[in-house]
Amino acid sequence: MSTLAELEAVALGCVACPLASGRTKVVFSAGNPAAELMFVGEAPGHDEDLAGVPFVGRSGQLLDKLVLEELGLDRTGCYIANVVKCRPPSNRDPLPVEVATCRHFLESQVEFVAPKVIVTLGNFASRTLLDVTDGVTSLRGRAYPYRGTFVVPTFHPAYALRGGGVVVAEMRADLVRAKRLLS
Ligand code: URA
Repeated sequence: MSTLAELEAVALGCVACPLASGRTKVVFSAGNPAAELMFVGEAPGHDEDLAGVPFVGRSGQLLDKLVLEELGLDRTGCYIANVVKCRPPSNRDPLPVEVATCRHFLESQVEFVAPKVIVTLGNFASRTLLDVTDGVTSLRGRAYPYRGTFVVPTFHPAYALRGGGVVVAEMRADLVRAKRLLS
């Protein structure tokens, strides 16, 4: 694949794993492929599966708000993707075989976008990118070199919605960490 658009076209037609049969839409990305900041979530949920766009539900609204308040950026200033591009049934975690089948799309997205900083949202994205088994609570608080960029792990906004003020405050601190790396 020589362009991101070609990669997206391939992803939109992908039937390489069983998630394809249950999806409404493939959720490839949102935002600006020229951005220096990239967010990586887990997998599309119900709203994203219908819209074909990542993070459009309640957790996406919190993410948008925090990114605007801490970094002054909207979706034209960042690029957003998930580890897995199709919705797992009943919002279960993606299975290892689904991640293994899909992860080349994310790896190519990182190569094409070449962000300065990747913020991983939650356990799943943080573990997948960093190839570790630790949870995000112990991973967060620092940046990790990753393929010429930095990974800054933070909580998933769905967890922050449930966890309240302390979790949101820690997410804000992680976004400030990302901002410092961008400047
Ligand atoms: N949760 C995710 O991890 N990704 C989305 O796109 C939506 C919810």
